[in-house]
Amino acid sequence: MSQFEYISSNPDETGVFAKRLAGLLAPGDVLTLEGDLGAGKTTFTKGLALGLGIKRTVNSPTFTIIKEYKGDLPLYHMDVYRLDDSFEDLGFDEYFEGEGVTVVEWAHLIEDQLPGDRLAIGIYRTGDTERRIVLEPVGDRYRKLCEEIMA
Ligand code: ADP
Ligand code: MG
Repeated sequence: MSQFEYISSNPDETGVFAKRLAGLLAPGDVLTLEGDLGAGKTTFTKGLALGLGIKRTVNSPTFTIIKEYKGDLPLYHMDVYRLDDSFEDLGFDEYFEGEGVTVVEWAHLIEDQLPGDRLAIGIYRTGDTERRIVLEPVGDRYRKLCEEIMA
């Protein structure tokens, strides 16, 4: 499996990287975000939202599971951290197949419900403000997308 890596030295760099990625996204794209609490998943999503032309502030949707934002492309921001029953069906498919881009924080908790093709992103803390961002594309479209963003 191909893997792409970006080293971010501060929150701004993470945001700018995510914003650049957003410029390559299309309706129906699904991104998963893994990483410990405080790794930078929500920081990444905020950058992504800027890149999608979303004006509202994106906050961690911890208490709502799914938040929807209107932009040039809509963003469906999911944080499934508090989902106590992973088999609970909240109609995720409608988002995955919708007109927007879906970002799922703690995606492994709903592994069985994720679409086959997706861009898996891991964020790892390697220093106070340094993060290793690892992109693992599943499927052709996402592999090409990664090649493009890394070019
Ligand atoms: P998560 O959603 O993974 O729990 P958050 O994005 O909410 O994480 O929080 C990440 C925290 O780490 C923020 O306070 C952010 O400012 C800080 N941080 C420091 N360096 C970085 C970096 N390079 N990339 C992203 N966040 C960083
Ligand atoms: Mg978060």
